[in-house]
Amino acid sequence: MVDPFVPRKQPRLLIAPSYGAAVKGRWHNTMDSPISFKDPAVAVHLSARERQDLDRHHHDGLARFWGAKPRFDRDIDQLTTGDLVLFTGQSRLRYIGTLGFKTRNERLASALWQDEPSWTNVYSITELQPIADVSYPQLAAFLHFSPQYSFQRTQLLTPEQTSWVIAGVGIDLGNAQAPRQAEQPGRRRRAGIAVGLDRAAVQDALDEWRDLGKQAFLQKYEANEAARYAIIDRDCEADAMAILLGARHRTGLPADGHWRGDLVNVAAPLRKLGFAVVNIASELEGPLGPQPSAYVTRAHEFLGPTDSLTLQSIRREQSFLRGALGIGTGRPGAQAECALCGRLLPEDLLVASHIKPRARCTESERIDIPNIAMPACLLGCDALYERGYITVDGDGTVRLGKTAEPHLLAQDQLIGRKLTIHNAARAEYFAWHHAQHA
Ligand SMILES: [Zn+2]
Repeated sequence: MVDPFVPRKQPRLLIAPSYGAAVKGRWHNTMDSPISFKDPAVAVHLSARERQDLDRHHHDGLARFWGAKPRFDRDIDQLTTGDLVLFTGQSRLRYIGTLGFKTRNERLASALWQDEPSWTNVYSITELQPIADVSYPQLAAFLHFSPQYSFQRTQLLTPEQTSWVIAGVGIDLGNAQAPRQAEQPGRRRRAGIAVGLDRAAVQDALDEWRDLGKQAFLQKYEANEAARYAIIDRDCEADAMAILLGARHRTGLPADGHWRGDLVNVAAPLRKLGFAVVNIASELEGPLGPQPSAYVTRAHEFLGPTDSLTLQSIRREQSFLRGALGIGTGRPGAQAECALCGRLLPEDLLVASHIKPRARCTESERIDIPNIAMPACLLGCDALYERGYITVDGDGTVRLGKTAEPHLLAQDQLIGRKLTIHNAARAEYFAWHHAQHA
């Protein structure tokens, strides 16, 4: 049988209160455990079409049901199979469910919830997973709402808000969106691995990592090798998830289960505690977060003279420079300007380009962040400057380099362009380049 339902790329998300005085009993009746829709008391209220629809989503004849009042009709109308429902109550997220069947049927609602005939919208849930450790203030933070916001009414989130919550809570869409898939308890990853840990707890775990070595530490705390984030701690890079897991064990916090290893749950809280965290899967994301000033004030901690010229330290320096130049947000779609051609381009088409070649820099020049570098695009500017086809004169104007054929770039708008990035702090670096290539 072919399922006619094709999931959309990005589901919508409905917030549904599930624990207030008025609805607690309803939850007990139709959500705590699935009920039989073949039971005549329910079946008599279903049209042939509704019955067919339910059968399609719930082969065993059992389903969990929830609903909403008529004043939420407009919200409910926008939902389709595969969309997500976040059930709130007791000041936290309780469950997440995937929407299966949906109808507007007052008689069905009255049969399901006899206590109070206020609901007319009825929907079924194909997967229901408990959510641990997400309080209302945390949910409010994901949504940029005030911390006091209480999620006590039915509410459809915008697509943008939905994506913030999916990223923040750590919802596994591959799983949540497949309506025919059997329930897989435990597969959903928990949010909040860093919640409850302070700087000292993380530092203790880092010290133990250094003492034990990587393999022994991973083994001791049953942690996996880092797929995304590593903490830079003086002379070593330690797998961030493993460190957080170790810190949870060491401080007696619950550590079992599968945890989310994303930006919101791992990198952002660690950076907030003052750690530098590199994304080993992305060359774009700066280790101190998106604020360029953080790199300037803390460069010496991570790029000091003890840093030998290893590949690791060069990669680290590049990510510091990116962050300091404002091209290290790591956000998909983030844009910034190429210092040479002035085009506004996606971050992944820009590099932190040394104004004076790195190999010719002294130690103090190397850590003169961000003045030693400029954002340059991969559409030509970076290579043209590095190879001396173009150079920049004392006024900050782009000139043809001496090795370039005059016709090579004669028509190009690059030549004669005055750079806004040229300033007193960068002048001597540009002058070095100019002396070589003019
Ligand atoms: Zn450019």
